[in-house]
Parts: sequence; structure tokens; C-alpha cells
Amino acid sequence: MDQRLGAGAMLLPAAALPDPSARAAAGPAAPQEPSSGDPSLLCPSAADVPPELSPPEKAQALRQLAQQEVANCRRCLLAGNRTHVVFGEGNPDADLVFIGEGPGQDEDRTGRPFVGRAGELLNRMIHAMGLRRDQVYIANMVKCRPPDNRPPAPEEVQACWSFLLRQLEIIRPKVIVTLGNPSTQGLLRTSEGITKVRGLWRKLPAISPAMEGIDVMPTFHPAYLLRNYSRDCREKVWSDLQQVMRKLGLKPPAGGRAGSQGP
Ligand code: SF4
Repeated sequence: MDQRLGAGAMLLPAAALPDPSARAAAGPAAPQEPSSGDPSLLCPSAADVPPELSPPEKAQALRQLAQQEVANCRRCLLAGNRTHVVFGEGNPDADLVFIGEGPGQDEDRTGRPFVGRAGELLNRMIHAMGLRRDQVYIANMVKCRPPDNRPPAPEEVQACWSFLLRQLEIIRPKVIVTLGNPSTQGLLRTSEGITKVRGLWRKLPAISPAMEGIDVMPTFHPAYLLRNYSRDCREKVWSDLQQVMRKLGLKPPAGGRAGSQGP
């Protein structure tokens, strides 16, 4: 999928994306949805927000979620198309999380997010920030590959939403970088396109008390950047990443590309 994400092609209707209260009324997305996916559990009151876990506890919680729930999930039709579930990977205690749209062919084959050409570019973006891939966390809106490289349907995004939300609640990053339209529109509950909102800090809306107010930086998806590898696009992405670096107090690596046209 990474290869087919264009700014226009990535649009998913924001109205179809998960709204916890709406979901509570709508009921489960699929007959086999497990009880842990009960929408009423997705947005507890502030009093129910658990304290932040320690790094080993976060790693354990993510493992349990991946192995006990996501690995065998059949909430949506994408289950029938997958070779591997692509849960996400990285530092369970990461300050910075990147969110893309969904697995492509390489990701489905390997079970890892962002391992194709777009993944190589994402790696370069991360390195340009002075970080290693294993210092951040990388995930997608849906965990299974849609067939024929099509975008995930709104009901598939909705079915998978609670998994991403729980990943984020466990990790509790300081900054989320949304890559392209679907994750930007889904997480920010906006219908605004990526070309309009990229480079502008936003706050995560009240999708979960544990997550409310986290800083979000929307930027172009690496696959879009690959297809539009112009100086202008690269400078825009690099400018977005530099804003993230300033927010997190990161300095570019020695011999890095600060001031250049980007990753
Ligand atoms: S995409 Fe998500 S909701 Fe659908 S089957 Fe895969 S893990 Fe389950």
C-alpha cells in the first residue's frame, strides 16, 4: 500500500472514522469482535485513566495485545486477505510515534510496518532526525493488508481503530506524526486534507482521556514523497520533521542534513 498513497488517493471520509460515542451506539463492527473491543471501553472517564506503565510493562502490554487479540482478529474482511498481521513495532516507551495507513505487499509478507521503498525513506527521515528506527514506534491505521492495494474501507478502519487507540494509550508518546491523509484525518477527526494541515501543530482531540492533548504533526506519507521527490516536497517534509525535533529537543546528527532540502 505504501506505493499507492497519494494525497488525493488517500482520502477516507473522516465522518466514517471512529467516534467512540457514536460507536457505542452502533455496536460491534463485526460478529466476531471480542469483548475487549467493546466501544464503551475505549473512552473511559478521566477517573478511569490508569497511571502510565513502566517501559517493561508497556512492552508486555503491547505483546499481549498483539498476541492475544490482534493476531487472531477477524473483525473485518481484511482478515481473509492477510499473510501476516502487521501490528506495529518499535520502542514501547517511545516519545515519537509515526502512524501510516496500512500494510502493503512487503509489510504483509514480513509482518513488519514500513519495510518497502516507502519504509526505506521513512528510515532516512528518522535518521535525519538523529534517531534510530528502534527508538520510535511505527504503526498503521489498519493491521491487515487490503486486497489489490486499495485503501481500507471506512468500516475496516473503524473495526481496527480500538487496536491503534490501545497501542497509543500504552505507549503515551509526546508527539505523533501522521503520515498522509487517512491517519491525519482519522486521528484529528478532520476532513481537511494533508496539503492544508501538514506542517501545522495540532492537538489530539478527546479520543481518550489518556491521550487528549498530545501534539500531532501531520506530514506527507513517504510513498507520496517518493512519487513527488522534488526539492519543494522534501523541504516541506524536512521542515515538519524539524518542528518535531524542536518539540522533542532533538538535535540532528553530526554531518546531518539540517538546513539542507531534507531526507
Ligand atoms: S484490519 Fe484490524 S480489525 Fe480488520 S481483521 Fe485485521 S486486525 Fe482485525
